[in-house]
Amino acid sequence: MKSLTNGLFKNNDLIGRFLMTMLLSSNLYRNDFCSKLPSETPTVSSQSEFSILPSSLKSLSLDGHFCFEHNHHAANDFGNRYHFLPAAVLHPKSVLDISSVVRHVYEMGTASTLTIAARGRGHSLQGQAQAHLGVVIKMETLREQEICFHTGDLPYVDVSGGELWINILHEGLKHGLAPKSWTDYLHLTVGGTLSNAGISGQAFRHGPQINNVYELEVVTGTGEIVTCTKKHNADLFYGVLGGLGQFGIITRARISVEQAPKRVKWIRMLYSDFSIFCQDQEHLISSDNHFEYVEGFVIINRTGLLNNWRSTFSPKDPLQASKFQSEGKTLYCLEIAKYFNPEDSDTLNQRIEVLLEELKYIECTLFLSDVSYVEFLDRVHVSEIKLREIGLWEVPHPWLNLLIPKSRIHEFAQEVFGNILTDTSNGPVLIYPVNKSRWDSKTSMVTPQEDLVYLVAFLSSAVPSSTKSDGLEHILAQNRRILDFCDSTGLGVKQYLPHYNTQKEWRAHFGNKWEVFRKRKYKYDPLAILSPGQKIFQKEKAYL
Ligand code: FAD
Repeated sequence: MKSLTNGLFKNNDLIGRFLMTMLLSSNLYRNDFCSKLPSETPTVSSQSEFSILPSSLKSLSLDGHFCFEHNHHAANDFGNRYHFLPAAVLHPKSVLDISSVVRHVYEMGTASTLTIAARGRGHSLQGQAQAHLGVVIKMETLREQEICFHTGDLPYVDVSGGELWINILHEGLKHGLAPKSWTDYLHLTVGGTLSNAGISGQAFRHGPQINNVYELEVVTGTGEIVTCTKKHNADLFYGVLGGLGQFGIITRARISVEQAPKRVKWIRMLYSDFSIFCQDQEHLISSDNHFEYVEGFVIINRTGLLNNWRSTFSPKDPLQASKFQSEGKTLYCLEIAKYFNPEDSDTLNQRIEVLLEELKYIECTLFLSDVSYVEFLDRVHVSEIKLREIGLWEVPHPWLNLLIPKSRIHEFAQEVFGNILTDTSNGPVLIYPVNKSRWDSKTSMVTPQEDLVYLVAFLSSAVPSSTKSDGLEHILAQNRRILDFCDSTGLGVKQYLPHYNTQKEWRAHFGNKWEVFRKRKYKYDPLAILSPGQKIFQKEKAYL
């Protein structure tokens, strides 16, 4: 297993570059908030705990149905480390199903400990879409809203909250339309990414996915069905976007779209100087006329790097590229993409050459690829298929995702890439800047104070049972060191896809947004029924 894993992780193309991250709670071992909740293994509950629940829920008249048994799939997620068994899983067929169930649990009041978690694809990392002895709502079965594209001055698509982004892409291409802002992996649900932010290489230009929403339909924690926009029920609208599922369940979203390109020039190049790499990334995101997508990643001590790229990319200078040695070096890869249509390809290459002349990469490391828009956007899924085939998809994923202010990124890089990480063989380490002027500060999402922020994502996979550097304990300890460094030097870092165990930590995370967040919780989910796996609020009498 080990050699197979090492081989895979030496290949950035194969691993794909799962994005994003997850972070590692800064208090993973101090489980004070959820001390009642076990981790690591599925929770088996006593018969008495289950017995009251089904009869009460069974009395509801629904279009869909409940499952009370065989629900272990709802006690797992991509992180593969937290397992909370629910008492029931709802397979809703209508928004009314969701509303009825939430209202029913709300009306049970504080005498009941029952909570409810909407579950998208379950790609959370630390149980965020799970509900210990509660109800999990499988959002993908909600099909009331078809994917419906609308043209006009401001084209948009209406979709169900449980819809996968990959389905929206395929349906949109039939109309020549597509959303503007994506995640690196598209087999995620609309409700799941809008509850976080949805960040990828287009975010510098369009903002994250939460910035590209016109309207939401939400079932609040009292069971009320509310439609909200920037003008109508705006408080709920902004609260839900980036709201970690705390204020309501997104059942429908109206998302801004644009003309979809047919093809993409996908380009990679290497830097050995971190400052020059950052300068070029920042230059690229400062202009609208450059590339549509800007990301990057760090490669430490990797053998045969450029050879691995050849499965997808072609070197501009094959001879020199074959002589380039990556072993023993810390390198920074700039990854950019230019969208185009075949009829523009004559002028495109010249245009790209001019744009590349402005960059200061290591010349022989320029690699280019020409792929369809779908191939480009669905690139991580190719890796998923390969990893699933060899049993390396469903392993623990101790991801750590950080947003770092530009003014401190060099300090961060020096310590983390220079000292803490000795190689990047456990998975990709992404790094790219985003321009916050394109982000709406009214959403619930929390970012560092500065206008320019770097997303740094440590997307590690752990080899099960390994006690070496590819094992879970080692990776968690490394994440811990990174977070400790950030804390002790006061870098002003914020976690993306945050995970904490105590309300004190959540308060610190939200900073001056905490009071608004707390008041919204009280207003829209007064009994703290929704998304208990985030561990921000606890359903209990004292809350009232
Ligand atoms: P889940 O994990 O099922 O849910 C996430 C949270 O949202 C839970 O708290 C849940 O209760 C709540 N929730 C789910 N549905 C709803 C709803 N309809 N209404 C209200 N709350 C809801 N993120 C990025 O930003 N950019 C990336 O490029 C990116 N790449 C990724 C690549 C991979 C391989 C993976 C596994 C994840 C990636 N992510 C990325 C992270 C992703 O955004 C989160 O995992 C997110 O949670 C979406 O996953 P999901 O749809 O499975 O939601």
